[in-house]
Amino acid sequence: MATIKAIEARSVHQIQSGQVIVDLCSVVKELVENSLDASATSIEIRFKNHGLDSIEVQDNGTGISAENYENVALKHFTSKLSNYDDLSSLQTFGFRGEALSSLCALSKFSVTTAQAQEAPKGKRLDFDGMGRLSSTTLVACQRGTTATVEGLFESLPVRRKELTKNIKREYGKVLGLLHAYACICVNVKFTVKHAVTKGKSTIVFSTKANDSTRENIANVYGAKTLSALMPLDLTLDFESNMPRMAHNDTSSGKLLVKGHISKPVFGEGRQTPDRQMFFVNGRPCGLPQIAKAINEVYKSFNVSQSPFIFADFQMDTNAYDVNVSPDKRTILLHDAAILIENLKTALNEMFEKQDQTVPQSQP
Ligand code: ADP
Ligand code: MG
Repeated sequence: MATIKAIEARSVHQIQSGQVIVDLCSVVKELVENSLDASATSIEIRFKNHGLDSIEVQDNGTGISAENYENVALKHFTSKLSNYDDLSSLQTFGFRGEALSSLCALSKFSVTTAQAQEAPKGKRLDFDGMGRLSSTTLVACQRGTTATVEGLFESLPVRRKELTKNIKREYGKVLGLLHAYACICVNVKFTVKHAVTKGKSTIVFSTKANDSTRENIANVYGAKTLSALMPLDLTLDFESNMPRMAHNDTSSGKLLVKGHISKPVFGEGRQTPDRQMFFVNGRPCGLPQIAKAINEVYKSFNVSQSPFIFADFQMDTNAYDVNVSPDKRTILLHDAAILIENLKTALNEMFEKQDQTVPQSQP
C-alpha cells in the first residue's frame, strides 16, 4: 500500500480555493459583497474581455487599514466573524475569510486601498499564491478599495479552458447577478463597464444612489418593465422550530416577502424567465423550490408568460443557514415546506384580488 501522507499546503490551498471561487459569478459576487460590507455607496465593476483578461471592482468604502495589510488575503482571516456563534446573527455578506485568499491562488490578484485620512494617497498591495503580502507600493488612490483579478483560473488549466469556451454565457450570468445587487441595494450607485482587449470601455448599465427598489428596477430594466409590476408585500406565518435568540426575536414567527411581481395580465410587458431575483434578507440567492412555487401560482392566473419576480424574504437570521457550501450560494431554509404552503396561499389571495380590480385584456 502507498504511504499515507499530508497533501502539501500549496496544493490544499489550490483545491479549496477552487470550491470558493467556482466561476466568474463567484469572483464578482465576493468582491461586490466585500464592497457592500465596507459600507460603499458607489461601486464600479469593470470587465476586460468579459472578465477573461481582468475583473476590477472599485468602491468608495472604508478602505483597509495599514495594520490589516498582512492579514487581508490570508485564509480564514476576516474582520466579520470571530466564532461560530456569531453566524446565527450575521449581518454581513462575508464571514469565511476565504475569498481574497482563494483569488490569490487562482489569479494574479492585487488591491489598492486608502482610508479617508490617507486619500488621495493609498497603497497597492500584491500577494503571493498563498495570500501572503509580497509588496506594498505608494500610489495615488481615492478613499476606498479596488480589487483587481487578472488571468482568472490560469493556475487551473481545465477550468480556464471551460471559462474561455463559455465566457459569453458566464458573462451573461454575471450581469444577471449584478442586476440583482443593483436593484436590492438602495442608496448604492452601481456602474458596470466593459472593454474588449485594448479597446475603450463602455457603460453596460448603471443605477443612481436611489432610495427605492422601484427606482433601481426602472434604471436597470426600464420604466416599461416597472409599469407592468405590482408590489409584493406579504406577511407569512412561519413557525420555525428553531430556538430563537432574544436579540433578534422581533419577528415572532413572521416572515415578510417584499418586492415586485408582474401583474397577472396578459401581454403587459412580456417578461423573460431570467428576470427573477430572489433574496434572503437582501442577500441574492437561488431559491429553486420557492421560485417553482411562485411560478406555479402565477401560471394559474396567466398561462401565457413567466412573471418578473423580485422577492426579498425577510426573516430571523437563525431561521436559515448560509454556511452550506464554501461559495455561500446555497441557503438552507428551516421549515421550507411550511413557508412554501403559506406563500402559495398568500399569492393566490393576492392575485385573486388583483383579478377583480384589473380587467383582463384580450389576447
Ligand atoms: P470575508 O469577506 O469573509 O471577511 P474576504 O477574503 O472576502 O473574507 O475578505 C477578507 C477581509 O478583507 C474582510 O474581512 C475585510 O476586512 C477586508 N476587505 C476585503 N475587501 C474589502 C473592501 N472592498 N473594503 C474594505 N475591506 C475589505
Ligand atoms: Mg468577503
